[in-house]
Amino acid sequence: MRLSRYFLPVLKETPAEAQIVSHRLMLRAGMIKQSAAGIYSWLPLGFKVLRKIENIVHEEQARAGHIPIQMPTIQSADLWRESGRYDDYGEEMLRIKDRGGRDMLFTPTAEELVTDIFRSHVNSYKDLPLTLYQIQWKFRDEVRPRFGVMRGREFYMKDGYNFDLTKEDALHAYNRHLVSYLRTYERMGLQAIPMRADSGPIGGDDTHEFLVLAETGESEVFYDSAVTDLTFGDREIDYDDVAQCAGVMEEFTTKYARTDETHEEALFNEVPEERRMTARGIEVGQIFYFGTKYSEAMGATVQGPDGKPVAVHMGSHGIGVSRLLGAIIEASHDENGIIWPEGVTPFHAGIVNLKQGDEEADAACEALEAALEAAGLEPLYDDRKERAGGKFATMDLIGLPWRITVGPRGLKNGVVELTSRRTGESEELPPEAAVAKLVEIYKDHMVKGL
Ligand code: ATP
Ligand code: MG
Repeated sequence: MRLSRYFLPVLKETPAEAQIVSHRLMLRAGMIKQSAAGIYSWLPLGFKVLRKIENIVHEEQARAGHIPIQMPTIQSADLWRESGRYDDYGEEMLRIKDRGGRDMLFTPTAEELVTDIFRSHVNSYKDLPLTLYQIQWKFRDEVRPRFGVMRGREFYMKDGYNFDLTKEDALHAYNRHLVSYLRTYERMGLQAIPMRADSGPIGGDDTHEFLVLAETGESEVFYDSAVTDLTFGDREIDYDDVAQCAGVMEEFTTKYARTDETHEEALFNEVPEERRMTARGIEVGQIFYFGTKYSEAMGATVQGPDGKPVAVHMGSHGIGVSRLLGAIIEASHDENGIIWPEGVTPFHAGIVNLKQGDEEADAACEALEAALEAAGLEPLYDDRKERAGGKFATMDLIGLPWRITVGPRGLKNGVVELTSRRTGESEELPPEAAVAKLVEIYKDHMVKGL
């Protein structure tokens, strides 16, 4: 992509309404534009990152054997009356009447809708286990929408629902989600720590939230610092292997890690003092097991092995896809701007031409752009007639992890400069070597983009 042809409306001034760094940087980098309180348009750069995050979620869901569907954003109130949640959900639900006076609502979550799909089409235990999920816009009329995409009213969320014959099977589904979420967040360059949580209006007993530690997080968290040493890494997982998933669950959830809702001082005090941490965290996901709450209320039964009807055991599992952009930026930025992890970066590398209009420099940049594209990478070539300082500032602001700087002086020696956004370190190398190095860096981070 040539920057001169792209739409990247960066802001020079720091927008006054933005209180936290991720919100400021998303506005300054031209990623989003607010259209109403807590409701945003996604501009090209923001939309690209959103799609990458979404695609990582899809890939990891597929790996865990979960099946994607798409449910509507507008639901009829009838199903919510069946489950009893129409009255319970309160003012966060955006309620709408259609022209016939029927009560409708904008989906804040979809347990009822998916349970209705299930009960209409699944009749036998032989069709279990089944996990359906979607990535879809949700609306919750939050009292205080703030912090940009972190607490929006409209937000993009992955919501998945497991249907199982027994509690035991459903707990395996719970563990499987926990494992796949660990992998999902790590691919985005994030450490998200599962913490025992409170179930809120969804209901149920077993639930963990995934929290990214950040000063601006809305949740207060208490944890044993040893949890931050755990990494999922590239271990091979067989998602059907009950013992293996339970093992990972055990490994990641036995050390003390809780939000203020479930915090127990006495238990916390058993952690050695030097490892007792209090901090703030951003909730980027949550998993629930809630048993037969919805299946009983809505008659979602299957014929069991003995021919008798059994209410299925369910859980639901969410990832805050749009909130993740904010969380990643909170966890990865410096005073000059965003620093995207390789897995979610909107472009793989920036090309900065120090002397636009110089025949040799222009040709070298174009050749680099073509070579990167031929290798399956997406460069952003700043071909504007701007000062080098301005070009560097833009690249730093938008946070591409790698920058190739091309200028007449280097070209005389047959080299360009490859700079890491994260460390600021640069090396001079021939253009082909720079391309080869980027190919190597990105080989484990290729995600379908836009
Ligand atoms: P919160 O406690 O932050 O209000 P929640 O527990 O009500 O969130 P869930 O129902 O667990 O939310 O939704 C799944 C995920 O969706 C959350 O973990 C979070 O990452 C994301 N999410 C929830 N509400 C919002 C929102 N208003 N804006 C952006 N993302 C959200
Ligand atoms: Mg939650």
